[in-house]
Amino acid sequence: MLDLAVYAANPNNSLGRCHQEVPDLERNEYQRDRDRIIHCSAFRRLEYKTQVFVNHEGDLFRTRLTHSIEVAQIARSVVRALTLNEDLVEAICLAHDLGHTPFGHSGQDALNACMKDAGGFEHNLQSLRVVDLLEDRYGSFKGLNLCFETREGILKHCSIKNARRLGALGQRFIDGSRPSLEAQIANLADEIAYNNHDVDDGLRSGLISIDQLQSVSIFRKFFLEARKIYPSQEGRTLVYETIRRIINFLVNDLIYQTRSNIRQLRPRHIDDVRAAKTLASFSEETKEAHRELKLFLGKYLYRHKNVVEMAEKSKSIVRQLFNIFFDNPVLLPKKFLNTAETCQMRGISDYIAGMTDRYAIQEHNRLCSPMQSQKSK
Ligand code: MG
Repeated sequence: MLDLAVYAANPNNSLGRCHQEVPDLERNEYQRDRDRIIHCSAFRRLEYKTQVFVNHEGDLFRTRLTHSIEVAQIARSVVRALTLNEDLVEAICLAHDLGHTPFGHSGQDALNACMKDAGGFEHNLQSLRVVDLLEDRYGSFKGLNLCFETREGILKHCSIKNARRLGALGQRFIDGSRPSLEAQIANLADEIAYNNHDVDDGLRSGLISIDQLQSVSIFRKFFLEARKIYPSQEGRTLVYETIRRIINFLVNDLIYQTRSNIRQLRPRHIDDVRAAKTLASFSEETKEAHRELKLFLGKYLYRHKNVVEMAEKSKSIVRQLFNIFFDNPVLLPKKFLNTAETCQMRGISDYIAGMTDRYAIQEHNRLCSPMQSQKSK
């Protein structure tokens, strides 16, 4: 099966798992990682976690689950064209958001503020905690016991302080080395996916319009192209025809530029990739076009008053839940009480971070409303 470039991540040369396991007869080590991720409960919970719109706002908006699947699709296309490892990139993409709190970035910001005296909260690090520690389904070890390369790809960012505690996995944040090309591509596939599906969801929600989006050069270019080919089409079909063109353009640009960077460096081994500057990248022109789209979304969608209003409500739910568990640890499930290597606050943070949007709302209703709380008893 493996027709891999010499600098690709190769499961036969993996830096291994924390706990040694007997190899599988049919699947390679990265396939096993991907399969473990798909079967874990944190993966299923992504279905009910916000991307931008809170889960109950509409059935057609992206959730963290559909986002992760879209990221994996984009990354696999790029990786296949570059003869890198598809199994590894798929595993990384499907796991990359496992540590996200309910309510997207607003939930994370609120949890980070609650945890400021106990080490803070970083969603990337939390994704690693989920696969290293919090998933509880194997008799011989905690977590999913994933390969080094999968864990390295999941840990996209990390503060130096936390990196120092992670040994070999944190080393690259200290010495400035890079992860595998598969991890680098997963990171950019994430950007391609969320920028484009946020345009789609933003238009669907009515918070941004096609007219507004025509101020963004990359959108305008492909919207006009789609309209020229399909002059009688309008509405959603034209939006889809535009977005598929943008994604295709970005994917191809990423493939061509990365291929050109690889040709220049001529890596002979994954270690050459780790020691070089970042190899996976868009062209300079496309970086700028993509940046313009991101700025537009930041200004008109993520800071739209309806989104900000929901974000503030979400933060308040997370803060109140945190406080109630802090004042009354007896309300926590046993698994999160007095976890051996952390203080109680980390247990509260793990519990809240694992909640889906709707479970957090339900718990908030149950615990923070005296009347409802009495009824439910
Ligand atoms: Mg993501």
